[in-house]
Amino acid sequence: MSFAILVAMLVLAWRSRRAPAATPFAYAIAALMVWTVGFAMELASTGVEAKLFWVNVQYVGIVALPVFWLQVVVTHLGYSRPRWWTLLWVVPALTLLFVWWAPGDVFYGDPSLISRGVPVPMLDYDYGWWALWVSTPYALALTIAAATLLVLAVRRRCGTSRWQAALLLASTLVPLLAELVYALGWSPVQGYNLVVPAIVLSGVMMAVALFRYHLFDVAPLAREVVVESMRDPVIVLDERRCLVDFNAAAGALLPALRPEAIGGPLAVVLEGSPNVLDMLQHGSSSEREVTLRSGDDARQFSLELSPVRAARGHVAGTVAVFHDITERVELFERVKELARLDGLTNIFNRRHFFELAAAELQRARRHDASLSLILFDLDHFKEINDNHGHLRGDEVLRAVARACGDRLRSFDIFGRYGGEEFAVLLPDVDPDGALAVAERLRRGIAEVQREVGVEVSASFGVASVLTTVGVGLDDLLALADEALYRAKSRGRDRVEEATCLPAPEQIDV
Ligand code: GH3
Ligand code: MG
Ligand code: MG
Repeated sequence: MSFAILVAMLVLAWRSRRAPAATPFAYAIAALMVWTVGFAMELASTGVEAKLFWVNVQYVGIVALPVFWLQVVVTHLGYSRPRWWTLLWVVPALTLLFVWWAPGDVFYGDPSLISRGVPVPMLDYDYGWWALWVSTPYALALTIAAATLLVLAVRRRCGTSRWQAALLLASTLVPLLAELVYALGWSPVQGYNLVVPAIVLSGVMMAVALFRYHLFDVAPLAREVVVESMRDPVIVLDERRCLVDFNAAAGALLPALRPEAIGGPLAVVLEGSPNVLDMLQHGSSSEREVTLRSGDDARQFSLELSPVRAARGHVAGTVAVFHDITERVELFERVKELARLDGLTNIFNRRHFFELAAAELQRARRHDASLSLILFDLDHFKEINDNHGHLRGDEVLRAVARACGDRLRSFDIFGRYGGEEFAVLLPDVDPDGALAVAERLRRGIAEVQREVGVEVSASFGVASVLTTVGVGLDDLLALADEALYRAKSRGRDRVEEATCLPAPEQIDV
C-alpha cells in the first residue's frame, strides 16, 4: 500500500518535472521506495543473513532521504543551493560504507532474531558509535533544518503557498516523531520502526499538497515561454493578494521581487514601493498609471489587472501586467505642448494665453494681489509686409516675440493675441511696474531693427488692477485695448495707461 502511494507520487513528480522542486522530490520518493521495499523484504525473508542484507538495502534509502528532503524544501521555497551543498553527502556516504563493509560494530552489531510476541520474526541489533553519535544526529539535524525553513515559511507566507508549506512541514514532522518514538524505545511492537507507516501518512499529506494545493502545478512550459520572455513586467497574486509569481522583467523593475519573496503577503514584499502596492491592492480591472524609477531613469507604466477565474467562476487571483508607456506619454506631452504654442513665434497661442490668464486672475483674487496686463500691436505692420515681403514680416514677428520674451520674468504670461498683436499678463505687478515693463519692451522692440534690418515699433496699452475684486479678464482686456488705441492715435511707438481698476477712490483703506 505504501509502495503504491510512492509510485503514484513518483508519477505526479514526473508529470510536474519542470517545476524546480520536482526533481529532488522524485529522488526523495525513490529513496523512500528503496527503504520501503527493503523493509518489506526484511519482513518477508527468514534467517539473520538474509534479513541483514535487506536492512543494509534499506539504509541506502534511509541515509539519502534527509538530504533529498532538505533539497526539496530549499528548492521549493526558492532559495538557491550553496556551493558546498555536495558536502552534505559526506556523512551519508560514510554511513553506507560502514553499514555494508565496516568490520565489527562501527554502525551496528550483534544482530539477533526476536520471534516471541511479534507477528513476524524481527531482526534486533545494537547500534555502534557511528550510528549513535554521527549518522542519526546528522539525519536529525538535516530534518530539523528543513522543518525550520518550513516553519519560517508558514509564518511568513499566506494563502495557498502557506498551506503548501504547512503540509510539507507536517510531512516532515510525522516521520521525525515516529523516528523519535522508535529511538526512545516506545514502539508498540519491539523492533518495528513506525517510520514506515508514518511515511505512508506523510505520503497522503503530500498527495493533498500535490492535488489540492497544486504543489508543482504551474503549467511550467507555458509559464517559461510566455511569461518569462515577456518584456512587460508581470506579477501574479492569489486571491488574498499574496505573491504567487513574477517574471524576470518584473524582478528587474522592482528589486523587492526576489524568489524568496514568493508566497509572502504583497504588503510586506512591496513595502518600499507604496504606489505600486496601493494600485495592486486596491486596483480594479481598469488600468492605472504609475511612475517607477531605476537610477536616474524614470519610466511610466500603465498597470493592467486581470482577474484569474477558477473553474467554478470565483476569482482565484490576479495577473498584473505593467505596460511601459513612457514613449506614449512623452509624445502626448509634446503634442499637448504644441497645442499650447503658437507655431510661428513659439510663445503661447491665444487660447492658452486665455486659459493661463484666467487661472492667474483667480489666484490674484484669492490672494488679493495686484495684476497688470499689457497689450501691444506692431505699428504699420502692413507696410513692413508690403515693402519687405510676408516672409520678412514673419521674421519680424519671431524677433519681436524673442526680444520681449527675453525681457520678461519666467512666470509672466506672454502670448500671441492676434496677427501682430501680443499680450502679457504680469502677476503681482502694480501700475507703475507695468508701465516700466511696457517701456522696457518698447525699447527692446526698437532693437529688433538691428537683427532683421527693418525698422519696427509697437504701441502699448497697459491696464492694472490693484485689488481684483469683481474684475474679469474681459474688463482688463477691454481697458488695455482702449489704452492701446489711444497710443496708436497719439502717434504710435508709445505706452498708454488705462485707468486703474477699481478706481483708487473706490478702494476701502
Ligand atoms: P497699425 O497697427 O499701426 O494701425 O497698422 P498695421 O499695418 O499694423 O495695421 P493692421 O493691424 O490692420 O495690419 C496688420 C497686418 O499684419 C495685416 C496682416 O497682413 C499682417 N499679419 C497678420 N498676421 C501676420 C503673420 O502671421 N505674418 C505676416 N507676415 N503678417 C501678418
Ligand atoms: Mg498693427
Ligand atoms: Mg493689428
